[in-house]
Amino acid sequence: MSEQVVLGLGANVGDRLETLAAAVHAIHDLDGVAVTDVSAVYETPPWPPADDPRSVSQEPYYNLALAAVTSLEPLALLDELQLLERAFGRDRSREVRWGPRTLDIDVLLFGTREIEQPRLQVPHPRIAERTFVLVPMFEILPGGELPDGRRLSRLLTALAPIEDIEMVVRLEDLPGRRFERPEGPSAPSASFTRPRFDTGEQP
Ligand code: ATP
Ligand code: CA
Ligand code: CA
Ligand code: CA
Repeated sequence: MSEQVVLGLGANVGDRLETLAAAVHAIHDLDGVAVTDVSAVYETPPWPPADDPRSVSQEPYYNLALAAVTSLEPLALLDELQLLERAFGRDRSREVRWGPRTLDIDVLLFGTREIEQPRLQVPHPRIAERTFVLVPMFEILPGGELPDGRRLSRLLTALAPIEDIEMVVRLEDLPGRRFERPEGPSAPSASFTRPRFDTGEQP
């Protein structure tokens, strides 16, 4: 049994673009996971914003969202994603909360499940307050909604005006591209029936 998941990736240390491109492939290469769609890469200001007392001085992020299908259970997927974060140089023992990191992978949605566990809360509890999450997520799921019925479109417009977010590149437009997006209009809704990241591999 496969479920649809949406992941949010961020990087603000090292070669951010190289990290995100390699991480998307590494996620697709996991057993039991197949990436079906990837947003553009966006440059975004650090969160919390500079006027927030919790904010940490750090460089801007590159962010993207991806959709995948997986046969893994949520905690098994989280284990794999945290191993990938470490493989990309992340060392949680030396971090401050919401501080700089080579790679962050958050589980934004896992099917329509609502999970409240110490290691995993899904949907990710801070989606609604983060334009750096909602902008790429809305790009791949324009008709998407949270399990409680809140539509991504409404969550996004509630944060308008959206400033300081810049589209950097689509991974499929990179030189020597390995990312394929079929021609034609994008899917009308949060449908995963037409994989856009098509390597022929099943999850
Ligand atoms: P935020 O969760 O606000 O985006 P963060 O990504 O910087 O902050 P991390 O330090 O990467 O937080 O993760 C802290 C812990 O959050 C992880 O060890 C993980 O167990 C837990 N966690 C809870 N829910 C999720 C989720 N939906 N996706 C990823 N990790 C989660
Ligand atoms: Ca795979
Ligand atoms: Ca995060
Ligand atoms: Ca995280």
